[in-house]
Amino acid sequence: MTTQESTLCLVGAGLGNGILAWFLRKRHPDLNIVIYESKSRIDEGRTWSFHKTDVGEANFAVLQELIAHSWNGYEVSFPLYKKRYDSTYATITPEKLQRELLNAGVDLQFLSPVQTVAHDHVALSDGRTLFFEAVVDGRGFTSSSARLGYQKFLGQCVRLSKPHGLQVPLLMDATVPQLDGYRFFYILPFSETEFLIEDTRYSRNSHLNQEDLTREISSYIERRGWKIERILKTESGVLPIPLDAETPTSNCFKTGMAAGFFHPVTGYSLPDSVRLADRISALSQLNRKTLLATIEAYRSEQMKRRQFYFLLNRMLFLAAPDLERRKVFEHFYRMPQSVIERFYAGNTTYLDRIRILSGRPPVNIGPALRAVFSRKVKEAL
Ligand SMILES: Cc1cc2nc3c(=O)[nH]c(=O)nc-3n(C[C@H](O)[C@H](O)[C@H](O)COP(=O)(O)OP(=O)(O)OC[C@H]3O[C@@H](n4cnc5c(N)ncnc54)[C@H](O)[C@@H]3O)c2cc1C
Repeated sequence: MTTQESTLCLVGAGLGNGILAWFLRKRHPDLNIVIYESKSRIDEGRTWSFHKTDVGEANFAVLQELIAHSWNGYEVSFPLYKKRYDSTYATITPEKLQRELLNAGVDLQFLSPVQTVAHDHVALSDGRTLFFEAVVDGRGFTSSSARLGYQKFLGQCVRLSKPHGLQVPLLMDATVPQLDGYRFFYILPFSETEFLIEDTRYSRNSHLNQEDLTREISSYIERRGWKIERILKTESGVLPIPLDAETPTSNCFKTGMAAGFFHPVTGYSLPDSVRLADRISALSQLNRKTLLATIEAYRSEQMKRRQFYFLLNRMLFLAAPDLERRKVFEHFYRMPQSVIERFYAGNTTYLDRIRILSGRPPVNIGPALRAVFSRKVKEAL
């Protein structure tokens, strides 16, 4: 048994804990932080992207050194609607996150699976039990008591034989045939000849057929007149899209997906991770009590705000027929840019909500939608 009571222990070197450690190093340089991670490095199979407006100007500045790519704009494309937006979109890579955390003096202990996590100690699989000022569990998503839809995707980072000509990310190319729910391609141009391309589906089931999606990516690339020289990296994900609130667990020191801190409609957790890290690192007295109070306050605030997003998810997955889900997104992207930005940041206002729900529904959802709405719409607004 070892005691390191002045040290904060983070379990899992993923996005949530990585961002938390980064903010803490910036604002509490004397704090000792150790991270135990079961893998041999921060998972390279992920690229974490976000809108600058998701995190705000000040937090964006704190993230600067972690950002591998950023663009002054992005596009979306639907059968009846195509638009370019002029706000900043950025990407953090696991390689950069790992390098910067090590440079900043975070004690990253790889190949160290934790067997038991408690608020003041961990038990490692090598038999050691270690005590700390506090322990934060960021072991990622495991399960949910909520009903779920899924955002699932396969991505390939590829080098092309010639420049692709894209200047900014194409966040949704939904002009493609609709399969397995709402389907679109997502492209992040990293250089003139390299990009990350993903075939994404908003589906009722979690099954991801990697072979099919690999073929679909190749044929999309071919249709666009591009030629792959080399596939540099592959990543895939099946992200939970909750249709209702999860049973809350209190008194838990958790971050990231493990805590349910992610955007219900996108399954993305980076904005929440940044906001929570900002709050925790702003504490002048960082101890078990203040840490728990901050996480709990964040959780109850999120619970209230998220009701509206759960309602939208029910509308998407229960009311809209699978292959007409695209129309819901097309309708949404016709909103003013400020409404879209607040939506992704998880900050929709009362007026935004009315606006998003008003007008003629874009799909013939009939009785199913009325059923979804009638029960919960008032409390969700
Ligand atoms: C391919 C992919 C791309 C994504 N892209 C985006 C994006 O662009 N933007 C965005 O906001 N979100 C994105 N997400 C969604 C979400 O933000 C990520 O899943 C994010 O990594 C979640 O962060 P986390 O810290 O909760 O968990 P994770 O990043 O999954 O980290 C959990 C860590 O805990 C470790 N661990 C687990 N058990 C133990 C144990 N017993 N002992 C020690 N370590 C353990 C794991 O090995 C892992 O490293 C993406 C998800 C995937 C899968």
